[in-house]
Amino acid sequence: MLHPLNFYNKDGTFVFFLYLCKKDYSHMLTLRFKAFNEASNRLPETTNLPPNGLSQAELFGINVFDRAKMKKYLSEDAYESLIQSIDEGKKIDRKIAGQVASAMKAWAMEQGATHYTHWFHPLNGATAEKHDAFLSIDKTGNPIEIFKADMLVQQEPDASSFPSGGLRNTFEARGYTAWDPSSPAFILDKTLCIPTVFVAYTGEALDFKTPLLKSLALLDKAALAVLEYFDKDAKKVYATLGWEQEFFLIDQSLFNARPDLMLCGRTLMGHAAAKDQQLEDHYFGAIPARVSAFMQEFEVEAIKLGIPIKTRHNEVAPNQFECAPIFEEANLAVDHNQLLMSLMDRIARRHKFRVLFHEKPFKGINGSGKHNNWSMMTDTGVNLLSPGKTPKNNLQFLTFLINTIKAVHDHAALLIGSIASEPNSHRLGAHEAPPAIMSVFIGKTLSAVLNELEEKVTDQKMTPDEKTELKLEIIGKIPEILLDNTDRNRTSPFAFTGNRFEFRAVGSSGSCASPMIVLNTAVADQLIKFKEDVDRQIVRGMKKDEAIIQCLRKVIIESKKIRFEGNGYSQIWVEEAARRGLPNIKNPLDAFKTFLYDSSVKLLVGNNILTKRELEARYEIRNEIFVKKVQIEARAIGDLAINHIIPTAIAYQNTLINNVQGLKTLFPNQWENLAEHQLGLIKEISEHIHTISHEVNEMIEHRKVANQIDDVVEKAHLYDKNVKPYIESIRTRIDKLEMIVDDDMWPLPKYREMLFIR
Ligand code: ADP
Ligand code: MG
Repeated sequence: MLHPLNFYNKDGTFVFFLYLCKKDYSHMLTLRFKAFNEASNRLPETTNLPPNGLSQAELFGINVFDRAKMKKYLSEDAYESLIQSIDEGKKIDRKIAGQVASAMKAWAMEQGATHYTHWFHPLNGATAEKHDAFLSIDKTGNPIEIFKADMLVQQEPDASSFPSGGLRNTFEARGYTAWDPSSPAFILDKTLCIPTVFVAYTGEALDFKTPLLKSLALLDKAALAVLEYFDKDAKKVYATLGWEQEFFLIDQSLFNARPDLMLCGRTLMGHAAAKDQQLEDHYFGAIPARVSAFMQEFEVEAIKLGIPIKTRHNEVAPNQFECAPIFEEANLAVDHNQLLMSLMDRIARRHKFRVLFHEKPFKGINGSGKHNNWSMMTDTGVNLLSPGKTPKNNLQFLTFLINTIKAVHDHAALLIGSIASEPNSHRLGAHEAPPAIMSVFIGKTLSAVLNELEEKVTDQKMTPDEKTELKLEIIGKIPEILLDNTDRNRTSPFAFTGNRFEFRAVGSSGSCASPMIVLNTAVADQLIKFKEDVDRQIVRGMKKDEAIIQCLRKVIIESKKIRFEGNGYSQIWVEEAARRGLPNIKNPLDAFKTFLYDSSVKLLVGNNILTKRELEARYEIRNEIFVKKVQIEARAIGDLAINHIIPTAIAYQNTLINNVQGLKTLFPNQWENLAEHQLGLIKEISEHIHTISHEVNEMIEHRKVANQIDDVVEKAHLYDKNVKPYIESIRTRIDKLEMIVDDDMWPLPKYREMLFIR
């Protein structure tokens, strides 16, 4: 029995502790109670605030070898030459590279850096780095610090274990990294990090950055060519990307007490808490103090790295948050997203948190996405997806808007493929994220404009009156500012939000590069076709504006079926989309297949973004990652079921059996009545144990069969069809047991304990 005095200790924080000591269940040494106790009593960490009270603007980019630092540390000639290479994508000559290397070293060493690394994005979606010290020993045996051109420009990391989809056999492990001067070097943890591409010695890309850079160059060229019709000042068009990163936080002790979270990044079991997001009291609410301390710290670090982090808020689910920077040129924005994710991961640990980027860490509550806000901008600062003041500006705007819609229309399936992954499949279509059907939302005003263009323009030569009407009445009527929060559609996977498109189906853990590669290329490809079309009309004698308008009308008609203004989460839309013939690709394995569609090959290979072999390799890698993820989850839930859950259920069942036996001794005539509840539970527990153990065994047998298969696509298919369903059905049984078994005995932290940071 517990002594009441021990309950009412003056110091409230010890109540629970004494309760545990007194109760003295040996199983209470389980991590769960210790973890919950630690998590509940945790105070906010002190934050490493900016040194010397520097403002955010003063702090911005202090750890980046940016243009100001290049200017300071380089000779005038070398600086000019480097800037030219960056802006025009020209090759940097060896001599200049040598000067840049020594300038970088001088700057980095002044900041206390001792090492350098090439920093790249292999196809497993993470970032990779291999650090080398500047320290070396010269010929006379003296210690020196060196960093030369060849160390900056190219490296050969022994990175043979990264996925290559058969592009590189391990015996020819040579893959090399090559400097990307368009993304500036930075210092992280006393290491000079140089953003690089990663390619096989045969030249094939083994990373995300290589095709991304190619797609950006293609878009630049294609958009600039179309822009010639309107604006002759611009010399370059950049894709811009502003991502919004959603994530969950969980206390470190609770995380450590959940092997499923540690191994898979998501909970494989756990009954829903009585309360989670029903009351919508978390969204945009006050940020808990511990979380705020964490956010302040990673924001300061991000700002020092030149990541213009701007927005932070709570998200819909408990423990879910979001941060977003100001948009940037897409290549830089992609690097910054990767960098921020790793920064958040390490700073979270200092705050005794773990950050979860998994798309669906907790069942039954919202998962996490990463909206990609995308637009195109000229070097003269004009946003091509922003309406202007004049009909001419608006015609330019409509040209880029309508061609983007057509690009999405033509490559809808591939866009789904670009964001598909095993974890993202838990989230898509679950009434919290867009369905696996691509559609484009543009809002009432623009829909009306596009409809009018479709109706009023004909193939016939326009009369002057018609032209005036079109210019003034339709195109001229587009308001300069379309940013209207009442005309937003949160259920659309690809929504126009006034001056950009927001691709909302992207998953929180994935790289933004993959969807950006497809989007940039699809839009570029469409702009090239559009330009050819318009030029053909002009050659035939049509006036430029009229040719543009007529071609736009054609594009509007051809892409009409992708436009949808209604509720994307509704069943009505699923049916309507099927009638329209739009792809609805729910299964990630089917989504990966879009890489091999003829239209995708034509798009990506035809435009020299990826070779056929590279594309096939990427297809294989996606399948391989799928297999591994499901395999790890299947193993983890099997272990947990057999080693944690079933023993606990048996232990509880034994206490029930003891109790029934006691009742039988005490009340020989009434025991069956008195023990009705207990008897029911004993049976129910046995049934669950029986089913769980059978299912675990069956799942293992299916894994064995699948593991025999060499072909990775076939293997993925078997894992999907025969292994994955067990993970869910075993979970259902375990979650039922969680509701029956004595709370004191349950080994894993429960949802209600994990989901509410105080
Ligand atoms: P919301 O939640 O309303 O979508 P947020 O402020 O969370 O808005 O995020 C909007 C994102 O869109 C920010 O990253 C912002 O910088 C970005 N953005 C704004 N304009 C552009 C643009 N022209 N190109 C790309 N991204 C943009
Ligand atoms: Mg948004």
